[in-house]
Amino acid sequence: MIEFIAGDLCTACGTCVEVCPTGVFAGAPGTVPRIAHPEACQTCFMCELYCRADAIFVGPDAGGVEGFDPATTRAAGLLGEMRRLHGWDEWAADPRYPNDHWRMETVFERARSVMNRGPAPQTGKEDRHAS
Ligand code: SF4
Ligand code: SF4
Repeated sequence: MIEFIAGDLCTACGTCVEVCPTGVFAGAPGTVPRIAHPEACQTCFMCELYCRADAIFVGPDAGGVEGFDPATTRAAGLLGEMRRLHGWDEWAADPRYPNDHWRMETVFERARSVMNRGPAPQTGKEDRHAS
């Protein structure tokens, strides 16, 4: 669940407002967003992944806000951990943090290629489904 935005780190880029799938954040462009609807958080970590300022912290418990203390969380090196562990941005060249998201790309490529080929020729041995 979304825990906090560190106001002094936030560059007011607005990316978290844009990427959050459930509209948790609110705020005018150029301002530090507000956590307007924490109850809508799906704990998807997208905001953490996309925040290049490492200003957002999402707690691991999807069931509710745990009340992480911002100073303690920052001192523990947890800010930016999600982005680092996924090898995003400046971590992309660091072999300790492979970007496993790229592995998914072959899945998407194969799916696209199947779609572009159109339906396979009928052989008579296709799966049958209950109607
Ligand atoms: S993505 Fe990070 S830096 Fe950008 S507005 Fe959101 S909290 Fe601030
Ligand atoms: S963890 Fe996902 S749902 Fe929750 S605030 Fe961040 S982007 Fe939105």
